Amino acid sequence: GRHQILAKSPLTGIFGECDVGGAWGSAFRATGFDALVIRGISDRPVSLVVREDGASVEDAGDLWGRDTFETYEAYKSRFPDSETACIGPAGERLVRIAAVLHDGRHGRAAGRCGIGAVMGSKRLKAVVAAPGRRTPRPVHDAQALAKACTAFAREIPGKTERLVKYGTAGIVVSSQDLGDIPVRNWNEGSFGDRAVPLSGQHLAESGRLKKRFFCGRCPIGCGRTVELSDGTLGAGPEYETTCMFGSNCLVDDPEAVILANELSNRYGIDTISAGAAIGFLMEAFERGETSGIDLGGIEPVWGDGKALVQLVRLIGERRGVGEILGEGVLRASRVVGRPDYAIHSKGLEFPAHDPRAFNSLALSYATSNRGACHLQGFTYVFEKTIPLPERGFPTAQDRFGTERKAELVIASQDLMGLFDSLKLCKLSMNGGVSATVALEWLNLVTGWNLDIEEFLTAGERIFNLKRAYNCALGVSRKDDTLPDRIRFVPKGGGAGNNLPPDLDASLDEYYRLRGWTPEGIPKPETLKRLGVRYPDEVGPRP
Ligand code: SF4
Repeated sequence: GRHQILAKSPLTGIFGECDVGGAWGSAFRATGFDALVIRGISDRPVSLVVREDGASVEDAGDLWGRDTFETYEAYKSRFPDSETACIGPAGERLVRIAAVLHDGRHGRAAGRCGIGAVMGSKRLKAVVAAPGRRTPRPVHDAQALAKACTAFAREIPGKTERLVKYGTAGIVVSSQDLGDIPVRNWNEGSFGDRAVPLSGQHLAESGRLKKRFFCGRCPIGCGRTVELSDGTLGAGPEYETTCMFGSNCLVDDPEAVILANELSNRYGIDTISAGAAIGFLMEAFERGETSGIDLGGIEPVWGDGKALVQLVRLIGERRGVGEILGEGVLRASRVVGRPDYAIHSKGLEFPAHDPRAFNSLALSYATSNRGACHLQGFTYVFEKTIPLPERGFPTAQDRFGTERKAELVIASQDLMGLFDSLKLCKLSMNGGVSATVALEWLNLVTGWNLDIEEFLTAGERIFNLKRAYNCALGVSRKDDTLPDRIRFVPKGGGAGNNLPPDLDASLDEYYRLRGWTPEGIPKPETLKRLGVRYPDEVGPRP
């Protein structure tokens, strides 16, 4: 049921993409279309309604200004079997960290890279998939596919018990213990016991967790509905949201984090970038660097959950200091004059995994095609519990080891490109879905007969295609970097290393193995081998 939204990112100016779960992908596929290309700008607010017999542009003037929950419900009542991808007020106001939301109150977000602002710039409020009837699409060997998938569907819940019970927030405390979570805008190494109330386990034990929800027929169902103190129900914050609004801002009040998440979903804001921007502001405020900025009466002190929620609202409405924060930390740091407080790579804020906790992560963030991202590489899972035997890693790797890290990063980046292209949820790897399994399913669906080398080479092609696009926009080694705070300032405290491995040496090895020049440009023979060419036209880099 997953799908992908791609655009040149208004936040980073380079390749931008979001892989997202929920129900929209399968509804869209049921219309008979595989992909949608949206060009141009409307002169008035519109929505695109996609049916089996084509697509129509419909007036959305009555929905402009409405939040994502209201927009979703409006289309549900107009087209009962529909699913809606929409923006909220943040996307309409061109907030650079705006997201595209799906599934109404479940809040499945295409969060990163400011994709919501791209829709807003086109005055496109929503894309509604309204298939009418759900005709199963033909697959090559339906019987064998059903047999293979049924076996996994039975086994996966038992292998992913923590995810099933507590969602992704079930790893908050264990990640804290590994030194993996951001603390005080990446200045500290441990949140200690203050992580406990934010955890999925605590939300369950305290009775706040009310039910789970699923993407399509996923056997895991990591989505959670939680109760706020006024009795209303909202989406349970994911791990990333929990840590970026929580430990990164020193907020240990679950109510504040749930509220900030709920507001972000309503306004259509990326919670990772918003949490990073608010942590940035809290640091600047503490150090007396915000004197010229209109804070609207808010005192953004560390740990203040009320200020956190107020700031999310200002970002969504693009008002006061919210206008600065909604530009993302890179641009906000230029206003404040403290680039050293901005924790990002290529303009995309760090997610909630510390490159000092896993030796593959620094290189993975630095070379990711969309900027700092844990999912484009997902390398750390191969340093926790998951093997990658198809590329010579028969067991999970030592997270502090130094051997073959560039090789591991390349292998996992290429594999994640395949998972994204096949619309496989990466969390399924915890249940045993490997490269070999994914290939088996692909061959059963298509009737192809790819072997594992051809399959993994397709992943390499995907990664290089994105890199070629970025290089055409001027990306090179100078962009494959990390903030000085992460590279050179000892973390101090908590588990994990004080510093990540030397990035320059890692890049040399990585470029060599990728078949790129020492400046990080794919060599002509590499692109030729993969059948990739530079794009004809990429336009300017915003
Ligand atoms: S595990 Fe993946 S596919 Fe399943 S509900 Fe969670 S995000 Fe959706």
